[in-house]
Amino acid sequence: MIYADNAATTKMSRTAIDAMLPYMEEIFGNPSSLYEAGQEAAKALWTARERIAACIGAAPQEIYFTSGGSEADNQAILSAAHNGEKKGKKHIISSAFEHHAVLHVLKKLEKEGFEVELLDVHENGMVYPDQVADAIREDTCLVTIMYANNEIGSIMPIAEIGAVCREKKVPFHTDAVQAVGHLPINVNEQNIDLLSLSAHKFHGPKGIGALYVRRGIILESLIEGGAQERGKRAGTENVPAVMGMAAALAEAYSHMEENNKKLLGLRGRLIEGLSKISHSALNGDAKSRLPGNVNFCFEGIEGESLLLLLDDRGICASSGSACTSGSLDPSHVLLAIGRPHEVAHGSLRLSLSADNTEEEVEQILQAVPEVVAYLRNMSPLWKDKMSGKKEFVL
Ligand SMILES: *Cc1c(COP(=O)(O)O)cnc(C)c1O
Repeated sequence: MIYADNAATTKMSRTAIDAMLPYMEEIFGNPSSLYEAGQEAAKALWTARERIAACIGAAPQEIYFTSGGSEADNQAILSAAHNGEKKGKKHIISSAFEHHAVLHVLKKLEKEGFEVELLDVHENGMVYPDQVADAIREDTCLVTIMYANNEIGSIMPIAEIGAVCREKKVPFHTDAVQAVGHLPINVNEQNIDLLSLSAHKFHGPKGIGALYVRRGIILESLIEGGAQERGKRAGTENVPAVMGMAAALAEAYSHMEENNKKLLGLRGRLIEGLSKISHSALNGDAKSRLPGNVNFCFEGIEGESLLLLLDDRGICASSGSACTSGSLDPSHVLLAIGRPHEVAHGSLRLSLSADNTEEEVEQILQAVPEVVAYLRNMSPLWKDKMSGKKEFVL
């Protein structure tokens, strides 16, 4: 099997698994228990918090564990919105191509009477600081812009967007789920006030993540109960998962340079090869792009059929986000960058990790053009385009 869907989830690393086992087998105590076995788990949690904080330039007191990226996004956005509401500020700025964990919370806030302004995304998949500067008003209580897009891989100028927000004193949240563990991050240098991360996107376990909250920002809890996470997230901590997340993150950062160098090579080869397919287009910025992300539109095909045929050949890929698969709606991300509906249906996302090899890339480059040609051959729409009855879009 060739696994090329690392933006959906990653395989756990051996290091992460090994870091978890002792906390399932021996040190299984509840961190809230006062006896030694519990206190040992509590100490381990703190060490993990320190390790995670160090990776993003934060203080351990600023890290709150969550069940993943979605929960972190929800908690960050609801907290900042409700903090603003207390001061009579109910305007929120975001962008049209955010993850649904952001967009759906914003929808909910709209129902609470907030005004949500979604910035347009440029054709290359970028949102720029001047757009944010132009949109900020007296009553803006939050700017939330993703660090890197999960479908098309474009990386936003986060430090510059953060600087604009800092100057106007507006809290800045970034969904950095695709960036943490893959790109260097420093919340202070990049003027980030709230940041969401998720372990299963960097070879850690699923169902665990964290929210970075700058000191001084009041966090609202989504889950009431015990006093875990300093009263901001009730429920017995998932100690093994936290340990796995910390180990995976530290490992990702210690190998980031070599991993990214390898990924840039593989990505370059894939983009070069797939560009040769006629009436195709790369989605997202060619340069400001996650090292493992490749995303193409192929005119005249259905993404779903493409994926099924690739699956037959042992290739795991995606046509957008895992969250939209199963629905027939075209990707909101591809629509946001201006791809017409027809073309947005025919997309392919290959997201690589450092575990992928050059041989695998060559196999993908063998399979994709064949499958695209096969599907086009069967498509009445493609025939109309070839005969000139209908126009090509790409
Ligand atoms: C995967 C992902 C999420 C959701 O994270 P979970 O841990 O699966 O809840 C949120 N935002 C982005 C950009 C993602 O890629």
